[in-house]
Amino acid sequence: MNICVVGTGYVGLVTGAVFADLGNDVVCVDKVRTKIDSLKAGRMPIYEPGLEEMVARNVDDGRLTFTTDLPAGVRQSEVIFIAVGTPPRETGETDLSHVEAVAAEIGRTMDRYKVVVNKSTVPVGTGELVREVVARHQPTPIEFDVVSNPEFLREGSAIEDTLRPDRIVIGALSQPAAMRLVELYAPLERPMIITDLPSAEVIKYASNAFLAAKISFINAIANVCEAAGADVTQVMKGMGLDDRIGAAFLQAGLGYGGSCFPKDVDSLIHTAGRLGYDFRLLKSVVDINRERAPRLVETIRKVLSPLDGKTVAVLGLAFKPNTDDMREAKSVEVIEQLQAAGATVRAYDPVATDNARALLPAGVTYSASPYEAAQDADAVVLVTEWNEFKFINLERLRRVLRRRVIFDGRNIWEPERMRRLGFEYYSIGRKPVIPA
Ligand code: NAD
Repeated sequence: MNICVVGTGYVGLVTGAVFADLGNDVVCVDKVRTKIDSLKAGRMPIYEPGLEEMVARNVDDGRLTFTTDLPAGVRQSEVIFIAVGTPPRETGETDLSHVEAVAAEIGRTMDRYKVVVNKSTVPVGTGELVREVVARHQPTPIEFDVVSNPEFLREGSAIEDTLRPDRIVIGALSQPAAMRLVELYAPLERPMIITDLPSAEVIKYASNAFLAAKISFINAIANVCEAAGADVTQVMKGMGLDDRIGAAFLQAGLGYGGSCFPKDVDSLIHTAGRLGYDFRLLKSVVDINRERAPRLVETIRKVLSPLDGKTVAVLGLAFKPNTDDMREAKSVEVIEQLQAAGATVRAYDPVATDNARALLPAGVTYSASPYEAAQDADAVVLVTEWNEFKFINLERLRRVLRRRVIFDGRNIWEPERMRRLGFEYYSIGRKPVIPA
């Protein structure tokens, strides 16, 4: 099948590469020339395990190409995926300007029947908006269909998630349009839900909001555990073994960040409000999440009191492990608040440092290893749970620190081990370890 994917970000590039790998002819379009130039030169604009190899293989085989020329991409394809960004506005509302711009261009340049697929995360009703924008920009009426095919991949395992999604959601107004997508996804042999357009759009937001709610729920339980002397990791295990609950997304910590959960939860609250429903449950989810970083920084402030003049090593900057994405990363909040309290911050991340430089406040020193960051520091603050940190040499870390204090924002180490190693150790929803 001839496919055009518009937007070569985390979603578009991975989707394009996987469709090409399945034997389709794919043209990936982006309006940022530098991105397309670097892709043509074999350099990935994002970090995603396995992506570079998959892109290279399909470029070599002639199934995957890159261009900034959207009209050309539209003309040579039967199915056009819109995978551009849908960032939040100040109000929490979703900014659909990129989606609308692409829809208008598709309308202007369409020369025969096309299936226009919305893969970007968009509020319910956007499929209808896209249909209207495409039709309005057509010089002469040509038949087309709009389909909603929301994306559920996770950064860090995007290739794997795209090859083996839990489900494929296809929302369409017409049967033939839905069947084009069924045909495209059939080789994956995964469960498919074929439904109407608005339901498909709601499935995406409902899923992300539910996962965010799970995270805030366990974080609220962590607060109770701290006050009661209970251990949230035990509580989480006990809850997670219940099939009706499940252990995924029940890790207490600094809360959710990233390019999806914060904006998608805000967007659903906004959409519900517009439709006349006050989504109070989700408002609390947001409030609980917002309290996570200040709560940890307050613990750090009390323990190191005063924070002014202290040096703190922050381990992990990306919003989660296995990505270089810094959007809405908790590290930004933690570091800003540490600096505001007078601390000097030294930071280390295995891959996100370049992106972090652009986002983090001035005055942060970037280190080449966790040990360099911790050298003569007054404390370590673990923000992102990279595997590298789970297997860190804690004896070496202890030797280089000025003061053996660790604040673990993701509960990656065992308190008992930290006690044996002589650390003063603070984690989330568990009793602190304070050496005699
Ligand atoms: P991104 O910011 O990484 O990529 C978007 C790309 O679209 C950019 O390269 C941008 O230059 C390009 N673009 C914008 N306007 C364009 C235009 N008019 N013509 C051509 N290209 C244009 O975004 P992303 O993370 O890939 O997310 C894309 C969509 O998928 C969003 O709606 C997001 O909510 C959703 N989503 C993201 C993830 C994720 O983990 N990142 C997961 C599921 C869904």
